[in-house]
Amino acid sequence: MFLRLHEPEASLKIAKNSVVSIHYKLTDGQGTELDSSAGGDPLVYMHGVGNIISGLEDALTGREKGDELEVTVPPEDGYGPVLEQLVQKVPHSAFQGVDDIQPGMQFQAQSPDGSMRLIRVAKVEDDGVVIDANHPLAGETLHFEVSVSDVREATAEEIEHGHAHGDGGHDH
Ligand code: ZN
Repeated sequence: MFLRLHEPEASLKIAKNSVVSIHYKLTDGQGTELDSSAGGDPLVYMHGVGNIISGLEDALTGREKGDELEVTVPPEDGYGPVLEQLVQKVPHSAFQGVDDIQPGMQFQAQSPDGSMRLIRVAKVEDDGVVIDANHPLAGETLHFEVSVSDVREATAEEIEHGHAHGDGGHDH
């Protein structure tokens, strides 16, 4: 009788083009919970192609299924700094068909390059409305608690598309 040593399968380390499933909790600098996958499906993304913010992506490189980590992401590796030039005052007449403009309301605006972006009403003043086109999390230091629930290699089709398919991913 020959016995062979049982070696557990080497687990896949997260690298470029890994398809990674994570559960996460996101809190801001004040400890307020902003987002969480708890109680739902994990977030599934393709690694190394900019599908998630760079600070979180960098921290996950080389990790494997079962790993748990806490990551602090400064604004420059997250949603960027708050840009003053994205805050401006526009006349009330810019809001056609909206009678009661309130701070916190969100609108879609067309950029000069034709892309759509979300703007928020920051302040309503007599002589105009101050709007802010910064990402809502711009300027925030973000804290993530992450657990890696799965790692697999991307299929050729996923690599071509630049995103994950299947459960939790894109469904065409
Ligand atoms: Zn696709």
